Amino acid sequence: SSGINFDKYDHIRVKVTGDNVPQAIEGFENSGLRQFVLDNVRKCGYLKPTPIQKHAIPIIVQGRDVMACAQTGSGKTAAFLLPIINVLLSDQRDLVITSDHTEPHAVIVSPTRELTLQIFNEARKFSHGSIIKAVVAYGGTAAYHQAQQVMRGCHILVATPGRLLDFVNRGRITFSSIRFIVLDEADRMLDMGFLPEIEKMMNHPTMVPTGERQTLMFSATFPEEIQRLATKFLDRYLFIAVGIVGG
Ligand code: ADP
Ligand code: MG
Repeated sequence: SSGINFDKYDHIRVKVTGDNVPQAIEGFENSGLRQFVLDNVRKCGYLKPTPIQKHAIPIIVQGRDVMACAQTGSGKTAAFLLPIINVLLSDQRDLVITSDHTEPHAVIVSPTRELTLQIFNEARKFSHGSIIKAVVAYGGTAAYHQAQQVMRGCHILVATPGRLLDFVNRGRITFSSIRFIVLDEADRMLDMGFLPEIEKMMNHPTMVPTGERQTLMFSATFPEEIQRLATKFLDRYLFIAVGIVGG
């Protein structure tokens, strides 16, 4: 079963603001996503995109930064993972892992172990059968095993902020190959006190600057602190509001 109530979500209003907003897609077919990605989408049982996916997928594929506000259960994970995987697969020569530490092409940060694992599992499903390697890092009892995985290199790293910074501080991760940064559930990360970790990642000396990477922020609410972060970390972003967004 899909977990999405389309009767509910199909009627949700989506508002996109910013310059040169790309046309939303209607279905996964003709979305511009490569056939390989579409095949994996179908294997996951996704028949049609949710509203946030219809708008976010073409925006991200076209290289834009995004600040998206959408409630839980609206399909945000695929909204960022599908275009990221699609873009990473467009030049596979770049995907050869050569270094003895990790230079991920995409880092996805989320507040909890549970969410991090969910995103990681979706990333594996959507990239299944490709050269793309996804790794998860959330600390706790699996920390040693995860450290070994991280040391072998990856393209997509899904991590909690604390664990990510831990790897960064040990010199195991650098950000010089970053093409995408995703801050998922950004409001919750701030509530949980992860702002210092996020700032350290964004301001890391190896971090690819805004404008040369894509930064994607997702949040259920859009309070002032989130607006400030978006202004600081994103570059000429499009703002996507799904349904009613509280401040
Ligand atoms: P959010 O991050 O907005 O809370 P998720 O990305 O976790 O939402 O998606 C919620 C559930 O809906 C998950 O079980 C996911 O697999 C499923 N889902 C997402 N997009 C689709 C789709 N287009 N068709 C069917 N199911 C979907
Ligand atoms: Mg989510």
